[in-house]
Amino acid sequence: MRKIQMVDLNGQYQSIKEQINSSIANILDTSAYINGPEVHAFQKELEEYLGVKHVIPCANGTDALQIAMMGLGLQPGDEVITVDFTFAATVEVIALLQLTPVLVDVDVETFNIDIAALERAITPKTRAIVPVHLFGQCANMDAIMALAKKHDLFVIEDNAQAIGANYKWSDGSKQKAGTIGDVGATSFFPSKNLGCYGDGGAIFTNDDDLAHTIRGMVNHGMYERYHHDVVGVNSRLDSIQAAVLRAKLPLLDSYCDARRKAARAYTKAFEGQENIIVPVTVNNCGEICDTCDSHVFHQYTLRITNGKRDALVAHLAEKQIPCGVYYPIPLHSQKAYADERYRESDFPVTNQLVKEVVSLPMHTELDAEQIDFITETVIGFVNG
Ligand SMILES: *Cc1c(COP(=O)(O)O)cnc(C)c1O
Repeated sequence: MRKIQMVDLNGQYQSIKEQINSSIANILDTSAYINGPEVHAFQKELEEYLGVKHVIPCANGTDALQIAMMGLGLQPGDEVITVDFTFAATVEVIALLQLTPVLVDVDVETFNIDIAALERAITPKTRAIVPVHLFGQCANMDAIMALAKKHDLFVIEDNAQAIGANYKWSDGSKQKAGTIGDVGATSFFPSKNLGCYGDGGAIFTNDDDLAHTIRGMVNHGMYERYHHDVVGVNSRLDSIQAAVLRAKLPLLDSYCDARRKAARAYTKAFEGQENIIVPVTVNNCGEICDTCDSHVFHQYTLRITNGKRDALVAHLAEKQIPCGVYYPIPLHSQKAYADERYRESDFPVTNQLVKEVVSLPMHTELDAEQIDFITETVIGFVNG
């Protein structure tokens, strides 16, 4: 059996090596390292893929979130609601801009923002909601967009883990994750579903004015050379990363399919096992088809409900099966984000999930033999 990787970046590279190498060599030959034609071409191709009017490439996903909030003109003291159960970058940028983060609990089945908790958290100071499409599945955008409309709030989608996912509206129509709210932010960190070979990120919007504002903001607040109209940042996608992304974008749908195929094999093996709860896909029909492409499985995350999660993690390490605990500590318990406004009783689900979740190897190169070994090892330990 091939050695199991959490994310098999090398295996994927080997399958597209020639094209990647020639794309990178082409950049070296032209020396257009920054804002070159490759970046512009990638922007256009991603706009087309997503069906969104504007893509603004930037340096990483954290910057994308920060610049999205700057572009919307959020002001210190404005309350921004997001989840307690996500990567810290989401709340970090809210705090960094001196906005007031308001953390809320998540849904136990989807790991995404709990709509009732979100509604309870809205106050007259609330200006924005940041749903995180965690592990590759969209939050309930029907409910979020309705609440945003009712209370006149911005919606900033943290799409770092869900690029390529199709959100299915309650009327059956579909829209790409990240293009639904006022603005979406994504990351091209190497291990993300569309990863480059360094750092990268992008902001999406259908709003022409906002796109214009943001395009200047990523470039030192310049709308005309050496005229600085607003305080901006320096956040660029470099040409080499754009070349890598251009080579990989046409493969993204097949990468999402490969992840879903691995997820289905995992779920088939785990289903019906006591003490193991498999991740749910909203609208899942069990096959790769039009109705279940709403989850792109950035992570395949189980819940281990008999208290053996930590022991399982140690056991898997012994068996040379990599795994991850995303995330082990609720954000409201992190030193940087703790606040007297929060009570433990506000976060029953997150407090439970941090003790139960474990994410298994998930990438485009997993084979049946590896999946069998992983599932047998997990089941044997949890229920052995
Ligand atoms: C990866 C990630 C980010 C940050 O992306 P970077 O490119 O690493 O800055 C933000 N939010 C979520 C949910 C992520 O998974």
